[in-house]
Amino acid sequence: MKQTIGELFFYINLTAFAIYACFIDQSVYAIRFLLFFLSLEVIFIQGFIFNLCCNIAVIGIFAFSYLMMEPIFGIQVQRDQRFDIVNVTVACIIAMTLNWYICYVFIKGLVTSHSLEEERNRYHKESIHDQLTGLNNRRSFEQSVDFFTSVCRHVHQTVCIVMMDVDFFKKYNDCYGHQKGDEVLKAVGSVLKRLAEENRVFAARVGGEEFIVLWTENRIVEAQRVALKLRQMIIDLKIPHADSSVAPYVTASFGLYIMRGGSRDSSQELYQAADSALYKAKEAGRNCIVLHDSANGAYSILDISNPNDLPSR
Ligand code: GH3
Ligand code: MG
Ligand code: MG
Repeated sequence: MKQTIGELFFYINLTAFAIYACFIDQSVYAIRFLLFFLSLEVIFIQGFIFNLCCNIAVIGIFAFSYLMMEPIFGIQVQRDQRFDIVNVTVACIIAMTLNWYICYVFIKGLVTSHSLEEERNRYHKESIHDQLTGLNNRRSFEQSVDFFTSVCRHVHQTVCIVMMDVDFFKKYNDCYGHQKGDEVLKAVGSVLKRLAEENRVFAARVGGEEFIVLWTENRIVEAQRVALKLRQMIIDLKIPHADSSVAPYVTASFGLYIMRGGSRDSSQELYQAADSALYKAKEAGRNCIVLHDSANGAYSILDISNPNDLPSR
């Protein structure tokens, strides 16, 4: 964009000076300056600052040659009026046509590059977002997790990861239809977006009805509170699920893994640790959170149903 602005600037000056040269003095100068500008434009078309510098340099050369030709070099500037009228007219037409054409090409290029840029941005956005929920997708998670964990490790911050899976979702689809199932996923997606806004966490949909939340929190109780809050937010959606054996509403199970600062777990190990905790949560009856302790590898159920009841540290 900067470059194209620079080009526009360049063409405007080019036109202005060519017209100026045509009307003020000899047509031969107009054509020379025009060619000079054109060759410069062809040679130095890179970057806004560079184009600006070229403009300033060319204006300087223009002014210098125009004003100093006669006094310094003793070159006579012709002032044959009869000759001028024809030449100036021809130069004017050539200059204006050429410059108009260049501006036209430029504007076309500008419009094309703008729409190409928009297209690229849209493509990039789509490639890292899940279409159904608008959350980050698996690819986005995989791109971010390595960087996130290595930065946290470096600055001795604790990494928290929650893997979440909607309970009895197959049964939900069978009972209410696939379209209704999609609506559930959208609702879960908006819960995660809200959680991301309120708690500064990274949330992604990594599979059909599987989601991941990633964040950093050194206070373990606070980390647990986020997981409990998420579980409660899903319950609070109160989406009826007649075929669920665990609750009359749609619920989810959660695996929480807390990787303390200084731990050398890779992002893959982090993912697997949360996944195995989720598996335990399913085994434990669903609609619950299983905490996987990074210190001793033990699993335990977070059984405080109201996050506000959590003891302070
Ligand atoms: P569990 O409690 O053990 O997790 O049981 P479940 O039925 O949720 O798990 P299971 O893996 O057996 O089934 C997942 C279902 O999710 C199967 C599939 O049809 C459904 N699913 C996956 N992606 C989508 C989607 O994008 N839209 C809808 N509506 N359903 C989906
Ligand atoms: Mg699943
Ligand atoms: Mg499931």
